[in-house]
Amino acid sequence: GRIPLIAGNWKMNLDHLQSIAFVQKLAWNLKDASHSYSDVEVAIFPPFTDLRSVQTLISADKLELAYGGQDLSAADSGAYTGEISGQFLAKLDCAYVIIGHSERRTMHNETDEVVAAKVAAALKHGLVPVLCVGETAEDLEKFGPSAVPVAQLKAALVGVPSTANIVVAYEPVWAIGSGQAATPEQAENVCAALRTVLAETLSDEAAAATRILYGGSVKSGNIAGFMREPNVDGALVGGASLDLDEFSAIVRFKK
Ligand code: 13P
Repeated sequence: GRIPLIAGNWKMNLDHLQSIAFVQKLAWNLKDASHSYSDVEVAIFPPFTDLRSVQTLISADKLELAYGGQDLSAADSGAYTGEISGQFLAKLDCAYVIIGHSERRTMHNETDEVVAAKVAAALKHGLVPVLCVGETAEDLEKFGPSAVPVAQLKAALVGVPSTANIVVAYEPVWAIGSGQAATPEQAENVCAALRTVLAETLSDEAAAATRILYGGSVKSGNIAGFMREPNVDGALVGGASLDLDEFSAIVRFKK
């Protein structure tokens, strides 16, 4: 079976000092609750400038939290002012890296081609891509629920080996930060369609092993509904991942 993954995308929030306090408190909260990380994996995605501090704390205290960057460069090194290489993330013991978040697709003009190149770069450096796909409200009206996320996934998987270890995050753009989450049924239908794409383009084994997350206004009050769906294997949480009690409660969705 797939181990559920609850991931917190901090976006551009919490500086490195705040990140240390937050991670310490989160780890304590989960320890107090006797959280089993082998039952539900927990990952955080802080800003780049926090990652060294997060690594130091997590390794010193032997915490079981996973972490990663919110983006990476498609290139390994060179004249790319302001970019961050997957090599640097791997050196900081990042397990994961978010790729193709809708905020990067829209605000930084990341095309499907750029996203595919970033997925290849992540895999090259031993990072697990958390590949984000999702339709806008306009797409939903025009093309129906799964056409755009399916097309985005297909485009991102070009050149990906059939055995690759990836995570897919279905994040409908209309549900991000809106307070208007998809229904569990809506999420399930799209996640099932995405799993079919994984089977067709990678392999049946990869489709069975790959975690597909739902993201978009996930809260402690709606997480259980998503987690009951057979093709939803976790959540990518934005706003609620910055609230210690909310995020802890989301991680403990079984309770
Ligand atoms: P919210 O949980 O704030 O809606 O954000 C979702 C998201 O974009 C996570 O990547």
